[in-house]
Amino acid sequence: MTGNSQWQLSARSLDLQMLDLPQEVRFCRRCVVSNQRPRIVFDEDGICSACRYADYKHNRIDWEAREKELERLLDKHRRGDGTYDVIVPASGGKDSGFVAHQLKHKWGMNPLTVTWSPFEYTDIGYKNFRNFIYSGFDNLLATPDGAMHRKLSKLAFISLGDAWQPFTYGQVAYAFHIALRFGIKLVFFGENGEAEYGGDVETIDRPGMRLEDWRINYFKGADFDELLSEGIRSGLFTGDDARNVSCFYRPPPLDDLRRSGCEFHWFAYYNKWVPQENYYYCKEHTGLEANPDGRSEGTYSKYASLDDRMDGFHYYLGFIKFGIGRTTSDAAHEVRDGHINRDEAMALVRRYDGEFPQKHFKEFLQYVDITEDEFWQVVDSWRQPHIWTKDGNEWRLRHAVYYPEDAVEPIS
Ligand SMILES: [Zn+2]
Repeated sequence: MTGNSQWQLSARSLDLQMLDLPQEVRFCRRCVVSNQRPRIVFDEDGICSACRYADYKHNRIDWEAREKELERLLDKHRRGDGTYDVIVPASGGKDSGFVAHQLKHKWGMNPLTVTWSPFEYTDIGYKNFRNFIYSGFDNLLATPDGAMHRKLSKLAFISLGDAWQPFTYGQVAYAFHIALRFGIKLVFFGENGEAEYGGDVETIDRPGMRLEDWRINYFKGADFDELLSEGIRSGLFTGDDARNVSCFYRPPPLDDLRRSGCEFHWFAYYNKWVPQENYYYCKEHTGLEANPDGRSEGTYSKYASLDDRMDGFHYYLGFIKFGIGRTTSDAAHEVRDGHINRDEAMALVRRYDGEFPQKHFKEFLQYVDITEDEFWQVVDSWRQPHIWTKDGNEWRLRHAVYYPEDAVEPIS
């Protein structure tokens, strides 16, 4: 351990989502997610808002009409003079690869793809990123000051329970800095996570994120400046460090964005979003390769979120904070898309959810500069008493979708 070891566990929680968790854990009667996912809503039939959105997506949205809307939008922005007309934030993964390739080849746009660097690329992540560029895309890769990024990541791990958060800030904001710089008025993200995975139901019929909603939906209710203040207060870095921090963590001023006419859209609003199909599409068109180790730790999936050695800890901490791990999110989405049934999903959750991301553990500790003991202290500080109980030395979930006592009458 280097630096001041006193400050770390005193950092207060900046994650406002934790204040709103329902104290009674319930599971959706159709998929396997619980009501602990921030902003998810269960209706009177015990069905979660993500399942209701999936009904809507598969049965009631007029996708032809949506495609016409897309056509009008792109006709408005297409330039045809060799200059860029759309920004696509892209990692080289299945979702951004699908969006960029469709915009370029189906719709005749000239995308500039932009990438906010992972903390530490995995070999397969970097290979997929390069394959994506080789498949025919211009790309800007931004990598923030590594010393400061590590400190922010440590701070976020302790005070937000998610070391991944500095990545999230830049991933959204960087695209808009580049849009302003190049005078590009259209930014296309992939899916609306709030709709697809359960969250703010107000957003499901919106083609994009309203600028004023960024803070709560993407930033866990803590904006970047609050995190910076906490870093100064706790002595992790100085006021000078904070003043000189990369501009890409913060979105450009909202007034500048409004004046520029820049728009934020989700491709999934216009085109029915099926992650598994995006994978097969990118395998064929952008050189995407699945995880060579087989499945990723913490889930059974082989083709999502492969880029970063740190990402297993993002999902693991989600499991600690909400009792919802990566398998739950993946399996619930596949139930909604009709690829597996609820019993199969429950078996997958039982088998893989909350599996510890052992493979890159040492690198994670080094990156955020904490000891193994401190790591577990932070982890335990995020366990909510209504989610976890201790049997002797073993932590155990109080509720799980596969416990007989938590069973609900399934409904399809
Ligand atoms: Zn559900």
